[in-house]
Amino acid sequence: MLGTMSTTATESRIVLVTGGNRGIGRAIAEEFVAQGYRVAVTARSGTGPEGTLTVTADVTDATSIDAAFTEVEAKLGPVEVVVANAGITRDMLLMRMSDEDFTDVLNTNLSGAFRVVKRASKGMMKARFGRVILVSSVVGLLGSAGQVNYSASKSGLIGLARSLTRELGSRGITTNVVAPGFIETDMTAALATEQQDTYLKQIPANRFAQPAEVAKAITWLASDDAGYISGAVIPVDGGLGMGH
Ligand code: NDP
Repeated sequence: MLGTMSTTATESRIVLVTGGNRGIGRAIAEEFVAQGYRVAVTARSGTGPEGTLTVTADVTDATSIDAAFTEVEAKLGPVEVVVANAGITRDMLLMRMSDEDFTDVLNTNLSGAFRVVKRASKGMMKARFGRVILVSSVVGLLGSAGQVNYSASKSGLIGLARSLTRELGSRGITTNVVAPGFIETDMTAALATEQQDTYLKQIPANRFAQPAEVAKAITWLASDDAGYISGAVIPVDGGLGMGH
């Protein structure tokens, strides 16, 4: 069932979150639902949280993205807030990283966001309103040994957001980046305990974060209160990336 809590124009806006079936994307969808937005999520498998419309899409495939948007438009209406969250890692030291490991990560994390944002921009330009939010990572700024593919993809999102801000800023569309640090999801659970300990020592907050903490920053960027914020990179990292 779709959320019915909407009370104001802002709260009933239509949101699409990619990769909303688990992890950070799921928490983002849950927070939007809790705030009364009408929420659709894309999933390759499984479904989004209660109160969301789940549509099948793979961000590596423009046709499937187009079909997902068309379905959301038919069932909910034009997408006003888009969160490009879907992402993968294929960690490996440079010398052993295959072309495929590099291009797969770029194709999902960076080109995937491009495909989603391009499709979303159609409706947003027409409406002269839009909120584009890209989920990057602290390593897009800090770099990370073993992640040249992932960190390059996440830095790329910043260039994408800032260029889009220059292209579409005058149409009532803001584009921002959220750069999470270490968030407890399947992605980080896959890291070795020693790697997790090394990260923990570098985090001033001295703890990892929950997906809901990222979601709060994202819903705020989608709100009317954040209407004059564009091209920004908002860290949610307990201080891990300070100075960048
Ligand atoms: P998870 O691995 O828990 O979830 C990844 C999500 O992305 C899943 O919903 C997955 O769908 C989806 N996805 C992956 N590839 C595709 C694809 N080709 N098409 C559509 N959906 C896809 O990761 P997190 O929740 O941890 O990460 C979410 C985002 O946050 C990512 O962009 C990640 O890089 C970023 N991030 C995460 C951090 C962390 O510490 N966890 C830190 C900084 C950034 P499916 O279930 O079908 O595989």
